[in-house]
Amino acid sequence: MSLSNHPEPDVIDMDKAHVWHHLTQHQAFDAADPLIMVEGKNMTLTDAKGRSFLDATSGGVWSVNVGYGRARIAQAVADQLTKMCYYAGTGGTVPGALFAAKLIEKMPGLSRVYYSNSGSEANEKGYKMVRQISHMQGGMAGKNKIIYRNRDYHGTTIAALSSSGQNERRAQYGPLVDGFVEFANCCCYRCPFGKEYGSCNIECAQDLERVILEQGPDTVGSVVLEPITAGGGVIPPVPEYFPIIQSICRKYDVLLHIDEVVCGFGRTGAWFGYQHFDVTPDIVTMAKGVASGYAAISCTVTSEAVFGQFKAQPTEPMGYFRDISTFGGCTGGPAAALENLAILEEENLVDNARDTGAYMIAQLEALKDKHAVVGDVRGKGLFGGVELVADRETREPVHESHVMRVAAHCMQQGVLIGRTNRSLDGLNNTICLTPALTATRDDIDAIVSAIDTALAETPMA
Ligand code: PLP
Repeated sequence: MSLSNHPEPDVIDMDKAHVWHHLTQHQAFDAADPLIMVEGKNMTLTDAKGRSFLDATSGGVWSVNVGYGRARIAQAVADQLTKMCYYAGTGGTVPGALFAAKLIEKMPGLSRVYYSNSGSEANEKGYKMVRQISHMQGGMAGKNKIIYRNRDYHGTTIAALSSSGQNERRAQYGPLVDGFVEFANCCCYRCPFGKEYGSCNIECAQDLERVILEQGPDTVGSVVLEPITAGGGVIPPVPEYFPIIQSICRKYDVLLHIDEVVCGFGRTGAWFGYQHFDVTPDIVTMAKGVASGYAAISCTVTSEAVFGQFKAQPTEPMGYFRDISTFGGCTGGPAAALENLAILEEENLVDNARDTGAYMIAQLEALKDKHAVVGDVRGKGLFGGVELVADRETREPVHESHVMRVAAHCMQQGVLIGRTNRSLDGLNNTICLTPALTATRDDIDAIVSAIDTALAETPMA
């Protein structure tokens, strides 16, 4: 059987018979076939039935930042794998060292890169660092609690899920892990404090201090935050937000862990999302865009101060980070990441994300004038969210089935859009747009026009 170009039609049958799809109720495949992608070029995908789509999702889950079909990444990976495919992370590799050095150039104030394979894993590493520091300093009674924010998502593994503020993602996977505590989200459109931006005291950021005091500052090790809440509804914070968070962290000696799994590598029009805000994190995690999905790689990047705590006790048998990730030693990841980073630089794709992204957000804003169902438009760079409401006055969210029908309508028009998906009870009502950072204004026009038509032609159930 050939894997080139269009597979034989029985690939669909094999898939239906044997593949367990992510986030999918398989009864859907009694009536319809699964979507099987065969080929990709820049932002265009072709499926096993020969249909082609303009992909406004960068691979469904916001990963393929430099677009599909980059032969130079594939070649760099092939060259590296032929030369030396793997060595455990207890040692080093050439692409591992080269990529770490390049990455650190983009992240002033940070200095160490710890490799693993997924966003969840990168976050787990960050949590384990915090926990171990607390043990080294104070034993079980130390600063081991981790504060996370309502509506943020940090991953699928049980501890990462325990640090995620999305009730539908967590439901049915308990008991979850102890020592993770939630504070308020920062969505102005649905302010948890019932305030209006401009006359508020940024209560959403101040809420971190309330939780730290409630828990006891001596028990809190870190706070983990997405720079812009992604799957929880595309929620950028107001400009005052992060400086307040940072000052609370400094006041109580709490490490600031920023999860850049979605926002990292140019998505928001800066190399990292946190760089839009006046903030210096201690730990930064990243995955999806690091190698644009051409290879699996994630990184937990830390300050020298965090790293130094593990280096300080060479005679203590437990005085180093006793963690490993087998496939963190694969060289395909950093080889792909190096080439991915070179493409982002050579083609000025981060600047394009900023400029074309501003155009995208403006075009989405314009949809408000045409469609009462558009309640709020949010985002930064090529990362946009359109929150749909049944009633603009009351801001009652549409049912998620409505957003599903809008997305299906776009797909019929040949455009793939994203949406919040079974994350928060009653709030799965946001269209998410994350096109490749190569997107042009024409691409954006095509995407927004498909949404415009879908909104006009999708009746409320
Ligand atoms: N962090 C954020 C912000 C994410 O959106 C995700 C996944 O969507 C993760 C972490 C988990 O990444 P992964 O699916 O690679 O484990």
